[in-house]
This record gives sequence, structure tokens and C-alpha cells, in this order.
Amino acid sequence: MNQPLLSTSLSLADGSRRLSQSSPSPHTYLDNRVTKSQTNRRRTRSQGARERLNTKEHLTRLAVGLHDVELAHKLERCHSRLSVLTCGRHIARIIPNFTCEFRLCPDCSRRRSRKLQNKYLPAMSAFMLHRRVTAVHLVLTQTHRKENRKQSAKRIKDSFTRLQRRGFWQKHFKGGTWSLEFTKDKNGLHHTHLHIIGFRRKFFDIELLRDEWLAVTGDSHVLNLKPIQDIATGLREVVKYVSKPLDIRRFGAEDLKEFLGLKNMRMFGTFGEFRDFCKDFEPSDNDGDEVIDLESFSRDLVEGCACPKCNEPLFDLRMSGKELPQFYEQVESSPPRKVGTSWN
Ligand SMILES: [Zn+2]
Ligand SMILES: [Zn+2]
Repeated sequence: MNQPLLSTSLSLADGSRRLSQSSPSPHTYLDNRVTKSQTNRRRTRSQGARERLNTKEHLTRLAVGLHDVELAHKLERCHSRLSVLTCGRHIARIIPNFTCEFRLCPDCSRRRSRKLQNKYLPAMSAFMLHRRVTAVHLVLTQTHRKENRKQSAKRIKDSFTRLQRRGFWQKHFKGGTWSLEFTKDKNGLHHTHLHIIGFRRKFFDIELLRDEWLAVTGDSHVLNLKPIQDIATGLREVVKYVSKPLDIRRFGAEDLKEFLGLKNMRMFGTFGEFRDFCKDFEPSDNDGDEVIDLESFSRDLVEGCACPKCNEPLFDLRMSGKELPQFYEQVESSPPRKVGTSWN
């Protein structure tokens, strides 16, 4: 049973070309779409900062529209004043005045995603080493129905719970992490995917896994699987969906309202043996109401320290959040400093 378990569109993921010439499968469309959503779009930091700003303004407008004054106010305050540690050419650290911790806030979800990575990466590496397992990125999908986001999420999570109880799954997997991804099509139907980092103990034929998924969902056999070469990249890929559950800029007031109703829904979790393994430091992505002590995020860099990139001294620049994209642009367009002898 030691067959490669790749679907056609992902055959390059393990460097194998053997399957890449196969005829398109009926799942090609979806597989390509899933694969595409997994590809990082290259963008500069200034573009990223500008997008975050726009997203936030959009969310604030929606909150105002819903008369949620508190949320609108929190979003407006979040990252509105910044202390930027810079050498003039590099940005070493950005300290915001306030973080709103709203799940859809692009600034706060970035921080949350970093926290999840810092927390789970050591556990994952240790688990792989001790249990002699390899990691795969599995995407499970379901057929779309007329249902709300909550029902859609519950349906796929219930199916996954049933999958985990089956002998096939237990024989081949030793747990992992899951996260939810929401998308919505033109007709307003929810497409919910489950992204799983699965720790695989042995190879299997992917068609068998499709059959298993069909057995637990009743109507869906569409899934995608690729080996994870580098666990840090794999984890980053998966927590991306926690930090960016959907395209917020296309969000309407109704979407926000619905999302606010999901307040306590978990978007990320661990399962199986991996769950037990990291029980001591199990975090939650659902820390919306938690007061974050900014000091606890402080790293060692302060004004006067050497820039980690060029060794020039860092100074503290105060600016408003709206000025950040432009400052990034300035930094990006400054010519690289000549490397002096003090550089190590
Ligand atoms: Zn925020
Ligand atoms: Zn520098």
C-alpha cells in the first residue's frame, strides 16, 4: 500500500512528476481552486499595510451601519498610534497603542496567527520526531447547501469527528490540527473547508480516503492532500485561514452581523494524539475578550539598539496608523546601505 497519495493537481508538491501528466480528474476544478488559495500572493509590506488599513476602515463602516458603536470605536483605536523602531531603512519593531482583539481585525489576527505559530511549531517538531510521523496538509470540503455559516461549519466539523472515529483514519493518522476556512460564492452559498495538518503514520491510497470522507458526509468525496515538506511553512499556511477566515472586503453588514453571532466558535484546534501531546500548552484562537498586556509582547529591542539587519542604531518614530503604509514605501524604496566592516 506504499503508493503515492497525491491528487493529480498536486503532484509537484513532492517533486514527483510521475502523476503530473495524468488526465484531469473530475475534481480538478476544485483541487486547482484549493491549491490556488494555498499559494501565497506576493505583495510588498506597504501593500499589505494599506490593505489592512482599508479592510479596517471597511469593517468600521459596517460596524457603524449596524449601530455597534463599541466595535466601531475599538476598531478605530486599534493600531491608530504606533511607535516604530527603525534605523530609517528597516523596521525592527512596531508597538501599537491599543489592540482591539476583534477576530476579523487584520492587525489583531496577524498577531494571533503569530502567537499560534509560536505556540504550536515546537510541539509539532517534537511530535514528529518522537512519534516518527510525517505531516500532510489535508483539505476537506463538503457540498454546498442553503444554510448559514454556523450550520455549514457545524456540518463539516461533525463529519470530521465521524471520520476520526473510523478505523481507517485511526490506522493512518496520529492526530494534528484543524482550522476552518469560509468562502461564499456568487449565489451567497457558504463553502466551508477544513484545513488539517495531519500526522500520518503510513501511506495509503488517496481514493480510499475519498471513500471514507464520502461515507461520513454522505455526499462529498472531494478532498485534497499534499505532503508538508517544511512544518513551519505548513503551519503558517494553515493558520492563515484562522487569521483570514474570508475576504472581508467583500463583506456586507449582514455578513458582519452573522459573524458576530459566531463569537464563541472555535476556528482552530488540535485533535487525536497530537492534542494530548500538547495539552499543557493548548491555546485558543478565541481570545477576543482577553485583555492583552502589550508589555508581554515586548522583545528585547529598544531605542539605541543596533538594527538587526544593518547594525545602524534604532530610533523610535511615532506615527499614526494611517502613515504606516507610506513609511513602508519609503523604507522599501531606500537604496540598500553599503555593508561596512562593523557588519557581522
Ligand atoms: Zn485590532
Ligand atoms: Zn537597518
